[in-house]
Amino acid sequence: MSNKQQFQRAQFDQVMVPNYAPANVIPVRGEGSRVWDQQGQEFIDFAGGIAVNCLGHCHPKLTAALQEQGQKLWHLSNVMTNEPALALATKLVEHTFADKVYFANSGAEANEAALKLARRYAQDNYGTDKTEIIAFNQGFHGRTFFTVTVGGQAAYSDGFGPKPQGVTHLPYNDVAALEAQVSDKTCAIMLEPLQGEGGIINATPEFLTAVRRLADKHNALVIFDEVQTGVGRTGKLYAYMNSAIVPDILTTAKALGGGFPIAAMLTTTAIAAHLKVGTHGSTYGGNPLACAVANAVLDEICQPQVLAGVSQREQMFRAGLAAINDKYQVFKEVRGQGLLLGAVLNDKYAGRSREFLLASIDQGLMSLIAGPNVVRFAPSLIIPEADITEGLARFERAVAAVVAA
Ligand SMILES: *Cc1c(COP(=O)(O)O)cnc(C)c1O
Repeated sequence: MSNKQQFQRAQFDQVMVPNYAPANVIPVRGEGSRVWDQQGQEFIDFAGGIAVNCLGHCHPKLTAALQEQGQKLWHLSNVMTNEPALALATKLVEHTFADKVYFANSGAEANEAALKLARRYAQDNYGTDKTEIIAFNQGFHGRTFFTVTVGGQAAYSDGFGPKPQGVTHLPYNDVAALEAQVSDKTCAIMLEPLQGEGGIINATPEFLTAVRRLADKHNALVIFDEVQTGVGRTGKLYAYMNSAIVPDILTTAKALGGGFPIAAMLTTTAIAAHLKVGTHGSTYGGNPLACAVANAVLDEICQPQVLAGVSQREQMFRAGLAAINDKYQVFKEVRGQGLLLGAVLNDKYAGRSREFLLASIDQGLMSLIAGPNVVRFAPSLIIPEADITEGLARFERAVAAVVAA
């Protein structure tokens, strides 16, 4: 017998700050799209650690990259650069619009860097009046005070004292509202090309085109927060590649490390030039261990068959969810793109997304929610088809249980 202490969920309430309400099960092991808890109960993972585990759990190539780099060099700080960081930045530049990369450790940090860069760029080029950040209702950009203030849910930023100033929120997909607000004082327009946390809300092509056109007209920058949509999630490496526009700054995190914390801000040479020596930084950003893992992630994701597999799997999810809905009539629509999908509850089940999530856990399925009305799926991009089929069967039993309750 192991002499290790067997921790229980109750311990969480004893020793952790109460800002999370984790489920009762405690997973201890994962492989591919399956996860096992302390009792050995198996789960199929449709959550992907909130769109992070893009290659499932313990992918052999990622484990190998981690082990190899773990025996070479973990950390230096930015007093020196390192080979994995240079390799990763080179790949990101090769595969995107960007010329320059800044590394951080989380989505919020990458967004913080993007916002600070946009402000500095505007100030250097156009003076101190050009500070307005336009962002959108329900948007989510992280939990630092600047990023959470730019996010579109005041409930997340209220209650912490004076907020960073100069942030305007508009309805998402509302071209007229944007047209009315944007001015020469606008420094940046920040948005997710598909809102994730806010409820899996697709941007309309007209809206994205208007964002680009109005930003150009007023010398404002377009910041795409691709923390959730990036790294293959929508079937392209980045979601902007599905649209007609290119942002000036793009942030990426979550899936970039496949489960190892890393983030990046991508931009052009002309904009990057304003983040001069000493203007911003991070102790860990570009850490060799994180970059080695992210290099392995990009090598896998950038294979055409992996990206093509995303839309194939999307079709399986959509067909499966439609069949479940034919039987139980719980959803009004399925939104999203690629393997970032949201099943929107109809009026009869409005506000009850968490019940579906908990019922899924009972059936051996990990899912997500995106607000009170949306059940969200963000599985591994290489989830085996058999796991999709079995996971959907479990989800159907969860739906049946909620309907019967
Ligand atoms: C998750 C998320 C963030 C925050 O990322 P963290 O790593 O939690 O700081 C920012 N923007 C979007 C769109 C996200 O989905």
